[in-house]
Amino acid sequence: MQEQNKKLIAINSKLGLLFTLLLLTNCGTNKSSSGYETDFTKANNIILLIGDGMGIAQISSGFYAKDGKMAITSMPVVGFHKPNSYDDLITDSAAGATAFACGVKTYNGAIGVTSDTTPCYSILEELEQLNYGTGLIATSTIVHATPASFIAHQPMRIMYEQIAEDFLQTDIDLFIGGGKRYFDRRESDEKNLIDKLKNKDYYVSDYLEAELELIAPPLQQKFAYFAADKHPLTHSAGRYYLPQATALATDFLNKRSLGRFFLVVEGSQIDWGGHANDKELIIDEVIDFDNAVREAIRFAKRDGNTLVIVTADHECGGMSLMTASKDEEDIDAAFTTNGHTATLVPVFAYGPSAGRFTGIYKNTDIYDKMRAALQLDPVPAVSSRK
Ligand code: MG
Ligand code: ZN
Repeated sequence: MQEQNKKLIAINSKLGLLFTLLLLTNCGTNKSSSGYETDFTKANNIILLIGDGMGIAQISSGFYAKDGKMAITSMPVVGFHKPNSYDDLITDSAAGATAFACGVKTYNGAIGVTSDTTPCYSILEELEQLNYGTGLIATSTIVHATPASFIAHQPMRIMYEQIAEDFLQTDIDLFIGGGKRYFDRRESDEKNLIDKLKNKDYYVSDYLEAELELIAPPLQQKFAYFAADKHPLTHSAGRYYLPQATALATDFLNKRSLGRFFLVVEGSQIDWGGHANDKELIIDEVIDFDNAVREAIRFAKRDGNTLVIVTADHECGGMSLMTASKDEEDIDAAFTTNGHTATLVPVFAYGPSAGRFTGIYKNTDIYDKMRAALQLDPVPAVSSRK
């Protein structure tokens, strides 16, 4: 009997070891669901999607409106970032985006500069110099704070015409957004920056020439598209390009850069719904943004080497949700402010290195986590300009 027991114990422990090994192997390779929570592997591409002003209540309002069927909330990894700026508990979009772009805390209003107004070297600029494909998409003007902070260096966010000139200092492969007037009908000078873009081998088009969906930009050239003269319309008033632009950009950058790119996509107007305390506008803009996230994840699933990150710079409106009636679908919203708030901001991740985004961390850590995901050298190469 004792011999048999010993044999059983031996077999059991072998099975136990085998089971443990299977589990460990599974953790490393099973990417179908929660395997990403422990994934620290190298990403070739990053798509960073920023829903400006999109806190938990804004996401929840879209979640209820869509009956739980959101791309954002299907992402396997969730964390939170602390959104405060250099000298204020509450950040604005300029300091918020500069934190992601450069990994530095700066003052509200700063576009790609540190707290003493020194230009900081953004991850987009670094990757552009390392021959990654680079792109920016927004549903505001392209010179607005969020996209601008990845490419421009100006002490104040309202310096739109100077920010527009900074686009010519880079070789960004693609940008899509509003704000044509800051490039070709400027108030501070007579420069035509669209001609200058064309001289730098950009294929330039705009809303007057053709809808974005009708354009197939040639891969041999860089691509700039102006979706409006100033800010594009709200989605409910007829703006449709954000998901289309996201699909176009991932395909364009992937082919043009041979599978190494960095793309930033902003749902700019969620924030404006927060400022206006307008629940319907928030829900509509969140759903449009979520459709862009869906396109990003669709590409990432096909590609297998793409890290998708979804977050916001800050919450806006101090939004809260409650039921308006006994009907669960009938959501009402309340707001505590028409400005931004300091509440922690959710971060969602999918793909290689998604595991880096669990937990609670500084907004500037997102910059470090993105550089770690791409396995860049710990210290960025020094900027060759400015
Ligand atoms: Mg913005
Ligand atoms: Zn705002």
